[in-house]
Amino acid sequence: MANGFKRIIIHWTAGGKIPNDHDKQCYHFLIDHTGKPYEGKFKPEANLKCVDDANGSHYAAHTGGGNTGSIGVSMCGMMNFKDKNNVGPCPITRIQFEACMKMCAMLSQKYGIPVLSTNIMTHYEFGVSHPNTASHGKIDIVYLPPFPWLEKDDIGRFIRSKIKWYLTN
Ligand SMILES: [Zn+2]
Repeated sequence: MANGFKRIIIHWTAGGKIPNDHDKQCYHFLIDHTGKPYEGKFKPEANLKCVDDANGSHYAAHTGGGNTGSIGVSMCGMMNFKDKNNVGPCPITRIQFEACMKMCAMLSQKYGIPVLSTNIMTHYEFGVSHPNTASHGKIDIVYLPPFPWLEKDDIGRFIRSKIKWYLTN
């Protein structure tokens, strides 16, 4: 994109229902289990040029091998997730998921990021398409608790169609 923003990458945190300081450091935006949005420590602009120095990272390090120009949005609460039968104590809720999709639609519009698989994706999808990065093998998001029938390779497409719905409604 002309403004330097290339993508929105959607994650889940490995934390609890509400973001903690570590979660806020890793993502630009977070959504808790009630659908309430939070801003992270860094603005999306901090990821236009990712700077690391002796004091640490000065951007949201949400996607290994793909942080530059990437906005990181995360749903809270996948602590202790193992698989669809063991989702941990605070799995993603329906209201939280919808709030996340609405936020992604707003960000897509604000930053001019098209709703395409090359520009809006889950961290899992980024890892699949970038096998030589630290994101390879990431499991967010391979399961969506409110939509248990979705297969892991269908979730990205489902998310993008939801975002399109929010853009037109
Ligand atoms: Zn992630």
